[in-house]
Amino acid sequence: MSMNSVPLGSIVQEIAEEMKLAGDRGAVADYIPQLASVSPWHFGMAIVDMDGECHVAGDAQVPFSIQSITKVFALTMALGAVGDALWHRVGREPSGSAFNSIVQLEWERGIPRNPFINAGAIVVSDILLSHYEPAEVIGEFLQFMRMLTGDDSVAIDQIVARSERDTGFRNVALANYMRAFGNIHHPVDKTLGVYFHQCSLSMDCRQLARAGRFLMTGGRNPDTGLSVVTPQRARRILALMMTCGHYDGSGEFAHRVGLPGKSGVGGGILAIAPRIASIAVWSPGLNDRGNSQLGTLALERLVQRTGWSVFGPG
Ligand code: GLN
Repeated sequence: MSMNSVPLGSIVQEIAEEMKLAGDRGAVADYIPQLASVSPWHFGMAIVDMDGECHVAGDAQVPFSIQSITKVFALTMALGAVGDALWHRVGREPSGSAFNSIVQLEWERGIPRNPFINAGAIVVSDILLSHYEPAEVIGEFLQFMRMLTGDDSVAIDQIVARSERDTGFRNVALANYMRAFGNIHHPVDKTLGVYFHQCSLSMDCRQLARAGRFLMTGGRNPDTGLSVVTPQRARRILALMMTCGHYDGSGEFAHRVGLPGKSGVGGGILAIAPRIASIAVWSPGLNDRGNSQLGTLALERLVQRTGWSVFGPG
C-alpha cells in the first residue's frame, strides 16, 4: 500500500481514542518504585514515515523508561565495534523462555540464545566494555542515541539506574554464571553498570520512533544521509526483532502484528515497517510475558488498517 493512500494522522488518533476505552490494561512492572508508580492509564503513539513526517497521539511526548528496547541499539553499537565476531558469544535463536531466565545457560554453556534476552544483552554490554571504562561506554551510548534521535535532550534517568542496580539480583546471577563459562570478560559490576544505565534511558514515543528510523531505511540516518549500518545488518537486526523481540511472546506478537518489534518492561514497543515507517507505542501495563498489553493491541489495529504487516495485508 502506498504511503499516500493511508490517512495516518487520523488512524493514530483513532487508535489512541480506542485505547482510552480498553478494559484490560495489564499490570505495570513493580520490581522498582520508579516503574511501579507509573499510571496504567498512559497511552502514547508516534509514527515517523519515510518522508520524515511524524504522526503522534496521546502521551507521545511523555518520557518513559525504554528498558529492554535499548537492547536493539546496544546490539547495533556492539556489531559496529566487533562485527560478526559477536555471534561467537551470543546466539540468534528465540529462547521461548522469560526475559530474565537462567535455565538455558547451563545446557548451552554460558552462550545466551539471543541478544534481546537479559543474558544476551549483558554479554553485549560486556563486548561494548572492551578496552573502555563503564563511564566512557555509557557516554558513547548516550551520544549514539542522541545522534539517532536528532535530539540532545535524550538522557539517562540516574535514579532508575540506581534502582536497577539495587534490585538486579537475577541480572547479577546471570552475569556471574556466564562469567563462570568465560563469556563475561570484565568484572561483573562493571558490565552490569553499563547494562543498567542502558536500560534506564528515558525517551518519549516521538524520540523513540525517530531513533528507529535507521532500521526503517535499510541502515541510513535520514537526518545526515550517512550510513549507521549496512543494509544487510539492518535486515538482520530486524530479523532478530521479529523472532526474539518479545521474549517468549515473540510468536504471539508476530501472529498478531507481523512487524519486527522490541518491547521493554517500561511498556514501550518499537516496531518497524521496513521502508514505510518507524513506530513507537507506550502503555505501561504489561501482559503475562512482560510486553505492553495495549501497545500490542494498538499495533495490531495499526497493521489491520494500514496493511503494513511484513506478511501482507489482512
Ligand atoms: N531492566 C530490566 C531487567 O534487566 C529490563 C528487562 C525488560 O525490559 N524486559 O530486568
